[in-house]
Amino acid sequence: MHWTTSHTQTEQIMVIAVDGPAGAGKSTVCRLVAEKLGFIYLDTGAMYRAVAWALLEANIDFENHILLEETLPTLPLKFAIKDKALSITHLEREITEELRMPAITRYASLVSQQPSVRDYLTGWQRRLATTGNIVAEGRDMTTVVFPFAEVKVFLTADLSTRARRRQSDYRRKGITVEYPELLEQIRSRDQADEGRGIAPLRPGEGALILDTSSLDTAEVVHCLLSLVKSKVEEEESLMIR
Ligand code: C5P
Repeated sequence: MHWTTSHTQTEQIMVIAVDGPAGAGKSTVCRLVAEKLGFIYLDTGAMYRAVAWALLEANIDFENHILLEETLPTLPLKFAIKDKALSITHLEREITEELRMPAITRYASLVSQQPSVRDYLTGWQRRLATTGNIVAEGRDMTTVVFPFAEVKVFLTADLSTRARRRQSDYRRKGITVEYPELLEQIRSRDQADEGRGIAPLRPGEGALILDTSSLDTAEVVHCLLSLVKSKVEEEESLMIR
């Protein structure tokens, strides 16, 4: 086995799987780590948001399980990797940017509790990961989608830190949400994600749990890069023996 930043068919693809609750800093950190390593960055939350968005567009009741299962493969959604990042199109129109709107957030969390939606997206995520070395972030990367990833990390932070971070993210996008409302939204989303029967949010076996409450972005990025470096060194020393 041999990992390089540009893989060929004889080389193993490296998967860095990162999970954690909303506002733990996954997106910022994973995007930077992917950029530094020249890996693909896969934001799987955007995929759940896209399905929620497409179901709303098609006026499909996601609680009608039979209809949902029939509809999923027919949704005019396409997931692809473009310039080392996820591109999402609906009827050939790029929708990646509009999926971050707060209105879609709660709906995505409800839709993601449906087993057929999880199966549908797990399939897509594994297929996308065959295209190159990847940093994949979400809620079930270390447990369900990539339990055998070379590097597994669970990023977390206390609730108030996460709500403050989310508020500044929104502010940067010109969206105003009051702090108490945001705190409540994140608390209830945590509860839904951790308490669901299928693929609940929790660290996968062997995942490093990293509390980022008192760390800045650069420190967390450094920590992930060190983990990758030791994994590569461990692999190289096994090859020499
Ligand atoms: O990461 P993001 O906040 O965009 O995710 C939106 C919602 O999608 C989450 O609250 C969660 O319910 C769901 N999700 C999931 N599994 C993933 C990624 C996201 O259930 N791998």
